[in-house]
Amino acid sequence: MLRTNTCGELRIEDINKTVTLCGWVQRVKDLGALTFIDLRDRYGITQLRINIDSDSAISAKVKSLGREFVIQVTGTVIERENKNKNNPTGDIEITVSEINILNSSITPPFTLEDETDGGDELRMKYRYLDLRRNVVRKNLELRHRLALETRNYLDKQKFIEVETPVLIKSTPEGARDFVVPSRMNKNQFYALPQSPQTFKQLLMVSGFDRYYQIVKCFRDEDLRADRQPEFTQIDCEMSFVEQEDILQTFEGLTRHLFKTVKNIDIPTLPRMTYADAMKYYGNDKPDTRFEMKLIELNELVKNKNFKVFDDAELVVAICAKGAAEYTRKQLDELTEWVKRPQIGATGLVYARHNADGTIKSSVDKFYGEEELKKWSADCDSQPGDLILVLAGKEEKTRKGISELRLEMGSRLGLRDKNKFSALWVIDFPLLEWNEGDPNLLASLAGRWHAKHHPFTSPKPEDVELLNSDPGKVRANAYDIVINGVEVGGGSIRIHSKDLQAKMFEILGFSKEEAQKQFGFLMNAFEFGAPPHGGIAFGFDRLCSLFGGSDSIRDFIAFPKNNSGRDVMIDSPAEISEEQLKELFIKTYE
Ligand code: ASP
Repeated sequence: MLRTNTCGELRIEDINKTVTLCGWVQRVKDLGALTFIDLRDRYGITQLRINIDSDSAISAKVKSLGREFVIQVTGTVIERENKNKNNPTGDIEITVSEINILNSSITPPFTLEDETDGGDELRMKYRYLDLRRNVVRKNLELRHRLALETRNYLDKQKFIEVETPVLIKSTPEGARDFVVPSRMNKNQFYALPQSPQTFKQLLMVSGFDRYYQIVKCFRDEDLRADRQPEFTQIDCEMSFVEQEDILQTFEGLTRHLFKTVKNIDIPTLPRMTYADAMKYYGNDKPDTRFEMKLIELNELVKNKNFKVFDDAELVVAICAKGAAEYTRKQLDELTEWVKRPQIGATGLVYARHNADGTIKSSVDKFYGEEELKKWSADCDSQPGDLILVLAGKEEKTRKGISELRLEMGSRLGLRDKNKFSALWVIDFPLLEWNEGDPNLLASLAGRWHAKHHPFTSPKPEDVELLNSDPGKVRANAYDIVINGVEVGGGSIRIHSKDLQAKMFEILGFSKEEAQKQFGFLMNAFEFGAPPHGGIAFGFDRLCSLFGGSDSIRDFIAFPKNNSGRDVMIDSPAEISEEQLKELFIKTYE
């Protein structure tokens, strides 16, 4: 070893020891006769003290040091005069007797401190330097810890980790695939897995019984903020289980992670149906850190000559506690906020429930005091509260009010990152009608689409509806949601060939297509497939949630930017004519 200790471990008990440390020069403080250096490695920062006397060899070396030089120093641990309580090694320093410069460094393009002056692109271009910063390194340490504790828990529960292939076959059903041309099979392509779904089901047919894998998945989706084309799942599958068993097992995993990694005891996860989530929160991943449920006012407000409400499919309110004192300016600004294209509301109606008990609305012309009292009763508003109302087309308005609820939650300080509220959302619909989803191939528009995936089983009591009213069929599918983030999702699977074939038929596959795409799975189901089900957690999301950040990128060592590019290695990139030829690929302008 080139060192006896790390830069994070020496304490007052180590005084008088002779030690050798290695690390990077974080800072040099030149005080003339004395120079202090902050030496940094993964474990911390230790202060070095060097007496400068003009002709010593050490002095010459110290003078040549710059930021991020890599050095090896030997010296004695001494007690510091000015102790630094903010640093665990702040009680001591090293008086240096020997310095060895292991490597020099050019000046880094941004400061490698907790608060850096480097912009996003620059930090990504020099990600290896960014990763030297404490804050970023800590995120990866958290990630490691979560992966380790996941393995500990699942191992104890008798799950075994099995690797599944990365070069598989394209299936046009889910999101778009990334494809890889095969040199040895002319004009044929592998696809990178969107998830190991079919393989883990086949492992159940093989009798593995409890499988997991912390695994890379790939989806060629239009990149929204904070989506990565490659991401990591904790992917799990179990045999001989019902939905309840999966919920218990993975509630257990969630509890274990919170306890071991954050020392937080989370309460039993409540369960909410998809229908209730949509009704009370306007989306299927409700942020339940705060109430502010949606209240439908349709019945109350119609036929009072207010055209906007009369014409609306949905009139829906939220009651923002303690916000009655919002000024006109704040309300105007909020109105502009809901009118932005992302929300697309035509306007915002409000009613202030004033401290003196009176209620004043922005539509007083149409709704008198008595009417507004009814609004207040439905919304359960108290003096001091503010009622906000959106109206319009059903789906858009529900989405809009759900966004407004989150926004008001943030503005009122109700979305504390250190508070965690987890729940299960259950009873998802099995199918949804695809009007033309930009994340799916155009050829799939105008068809039923599996809301979770085509291997999800319908609730037995709803199977009848598959023929008559497919949109009403509920699935044995569930999501785990924490603080408004969909952390994981899964389902009980179909394990009968006939039902699986029926499902493909409903999804618009011909018999031949279904056989070609998924024949291997349906054939396997004929060899004694056990009842099974599973779940996958989005591991990057889980890490960012535990780390109290909205950005999954901060928890990935080498992430891609918003355009799906790795700006450090400059990828994707063109390949040579020679490579293209070998792969039988022509390029297009
Ligand atoms: N494979 C599914 C997904 O990636 C998860 C599951 O159903 O287990 O969302």
